[in-house]
Amino acid sequence: MNYLNLSKEQLKELYEKYLAVYKSVQNEGLSLDLSRGKPTAEQLDLSTPMLGKSRSVSDCISEGGVDCRNYGVPYGLPEMRAFFSELTGIDAENIVVGGNSSLNLMYDSVARAMLYGVYGSPRPWCREEKIKFLCPSPGYDRHFAICESLGIEMIPVAMKEDGPDMDAVEAIVGADASVKGIWCVPKYANPTGITYSDEVVRRFATMKTAAPDFRIFWDNAYLVHDVYEADSLLNIFDVAREVGTEDRIFFFTSTSKITFPGAGVAMMAMSKNNLSVVLPVWCVQTIGHDKLNQLRHLEFLPNAAAVGELMKKHGAFLRRRFDIVLDTLEKELGGTGIAEWTKPNGGYFVSLDVLPGTAKRVFALCKDAGVTLTNVGATFPYGKDPEDKNIRIAPSYPTESELARAMDVLTLAVRLAALESLLK
Ligand code: PLP
Repeated sequence: MNYLNLSKEQLKELYEKYLAVYKSVQNEGLSLDLSRGKPTAEQLDLSTPMLGKSRSVSDCISEGGVDCRNYGVPYGLPEMRAFFSELTGIDAENIVVGGNSSLNLMYDSVARAMLYGVYGSPRPWCREEKIKFLCPSPGYDRHFAICESLGIEMIPVAMKEDGPDMDAVEAIVGADASVKGIWCVPKYANPTGITYSDEVVRRFATMKTAAPDFRIFWDNAYLVHDVYEADSLLNIFDVAREVGTEDRIFFFTSTSKITFPGAGVAMMAMSKNNLSVVLPVWCVQTIGHDKLNQLRHLEFLPNAAAVGELMKKHGAFLRRRFDIVLDTLEKELGGTGIAEWTKPNGGYFVSLDVLPGTAKRVFALCKDAGVTLTNVGATFPYGKDPEDKNIRIAPSYPTESELARAMDVLTLAVRLAALESLLK
């Protein structure tokens, strides 16, 4: 039933019906959470065996003979760089291994650019009158928080089904030299779950940039996180190499959602020119990251095939949860004309667009019925969703029965908020 074709009387009747259901839900005293993109405990159990081994001295020596209990090897164990090389298809010599968080590497990369500039910068970015970043939206709130924290102006760009709106990206980046960067989550994007098409990746590699030191922050956080049939993503470095634009890419990923969020291993990859600027500062920042953790990871996940096996198990957990979300959305909101949602093949999120102007109301209705959603607006720069319509659904953390109940409440709130708005 398409709500947009109903008469006032029909809308009113529906509203009364759902309001009664909502009131009874409110009395249930629910406490459910759809806001956190964190693995569930069962997923964490999958990697827990890697912590169990009691260690002798020989267990602390890497294959290449590095004593991982001590300082040194600041770019990461060669074996760990080779591991990430196999996982990403990027040469090991272009990879540096950091600590436990890729977000930390992203923050440092922007902060370093502000303080020192990047390869090719006429001056440190902080000496420019204004610095701007493009922010494909909806996007990852913590990317936007980095910009906000460092005083970088954010320009939202729409997300389409195959990636950011590249006509807009090319037009802005080509014309405005104060635009120095863009945030990209190219595979199973947070929160839309879409993967950039080959054409989008090619356009990123080949577009003209007015700034000589423009950088793409290519956050491939979900590179092996398939839930249904795997999407494939073009290796941007392969395309960039053909046209000589490798310097514009800073690539990031981590094992946070492979092993343990907060206790994984993060990496960054870049061209030789970029390494020549980044590494001297990197070595001022640290005498070396946690190599014992690198060793633990290598023992547990010696190669990409082992990662693939582990990710199949994660995928099985997540598939059941994605099924609940997508089935409920279809059953409760399909054909109503008041909601649209993404159907990702992987990652951690489903992105729901409700009737424009009602997302905040949906959030409040859910809250009052005991269901916590990600803050509405968080997926946009400055926390402001211009159309007040986007809601990020994070299905991983609750149990399946909690998720099912939370989705019932969410879809009820979407209908109620839409009916309220249509009746105005
Ligand atoms: N990038 C994206 C797109 C994410 O969704 C997340 C976590 O949700 C991160 C980065 C955080 O990664 P890390 O744990 O490596 O800092």
